[in-house]
Amino acid sequence: MTIDFERIARPEIRDLPVYSPGLDIDDVKKRYGVTEVIKLASNENPLGPPAQAVDAMRACLGDVSLYPDGACLNLREKLAGKLGVVPERIIFGNGTDEIIDLIFFAFFNPGDVAIMGDPTFSSYYLSGAMVGATIRYEALREHRHELDAMVGLVDDRTRAVFVGTPHNPTGTICDKAELERALAGLPEDVLLIWDEAYFEYVDDPDYPDSIAYLEGHPNLVVLRTFSKCYGLAGLRIGYAIAHPDAVTYLEKVRPPFNVNRLAQVAAIAALDDEGHVELSRKTNAEGRAYLFERLGKMGMEPVPSQANFILFKYEGVVDALPQKLLERGIIVRDGGSLGYPGYIRMTVGTPEQNRVVVDFIRELTTG
Ligand SMILES: *Cc1c(COP(=O)(O)O)cnc(C)c1O
Repeated sequence: MTIDFERIARPEIRDLPVYSPGLDIDDVKKRYGVTEVIKLASNENPLGPPAQAVDAMRACLGDVSLYPDGACLNLREKLAGKLGVVPERIIFGNGTDEIIDLIFFAFFNPGDVAIMGDPTFSSYYLSGAMVGATIRYEALREHRHELDAMVGLVDDRTRAVFVGTPHNPTGTICDKAELERALAGLPEDVLLIWDEAYFEYVDDPDYPDSIAYLEGHPNLVVLRTFSKCYGLAGLRIGYAIAHPDAVTYLEKVRPPFNVNRLAQVAAIAALDDEGHVELSRKTNAEGRAYLFERLGKMGMEPVPSQANFILFKYEGVVDALPQKLLERGIIVRDGGSLGYPGYIRMTVGTPEQNRVVVDFIRELTTG
């Protein structure tokens, strides 16, 4: 007996691709016979997790037979204090990815419209597709969001506008004036999803303090994560800061124990480990400047980035560079899968990793 699963699957999801995270370290070792692999494909922290977070998890290993605190009370209190908001404004997810799902589950009927850049972070449109949302795209210009044009697309079916800032895969931000115009221009029942996954890495003085706008703008939803600068990607924990009523509805669609016990204690400890954040930020800023300068000199047109990755063009400079890097044991993200064919998105690594990559590309460019 066979079942026609295509027939019984929901039409909205039939043609969705299965997310492909790219090769992992062991695959590359086996496939290319290299012993050392440098993974710069997923914007993870090259310095690893904060030592205090590792200690906190170790101390809690014996408790993993118990369900976690579904409300993340201790973490919520601590983070609220740090951000200067009431705890009722915060909701945690199994990664920020899950919060994006919750936004669609809570606020979108089939056919409701989500507006986003093109190219953009794939979770926005994949999560939208799951609930049958209609996606409307506004092309980036010079690798930046056209936020005014995005607001101009809003119609009476629009529920939300999704903006990564810094954006993934470009690393560009929206400035304070752009945020203010968007908040002034959006109807009050259209959510502005302001994704600051790379917030900690930004040093542009025009970057807005988004939290300060929450009070006057109940439609603003700020997303952040412990996956990037805090070095906890493998634990899956991110959060949103929003109006308490928005949080109430997101809570209704949140799975009860979505953030595990180890993630909660690690995140609390990570918030205390300011030295690790500082060092991560400094290492990244230096590496980012180094890569920008070197890649620029080699004619690869790097995009000025405020994040912990850099997007640059290899087409016309070194053919098949992503493959050549792989054969050398260096994993980067080929822009083809990110809407940027001919480009590479590379995470800023340690100084040593950055140098290895730059030296390898330079050998290829000088033949
Ligand atoms: C990495 C990233 C996130 C956060 O992902 P997690 O699910 O928290 O690991 C969110 N938005 C963007 C644009 C990202 O690049």
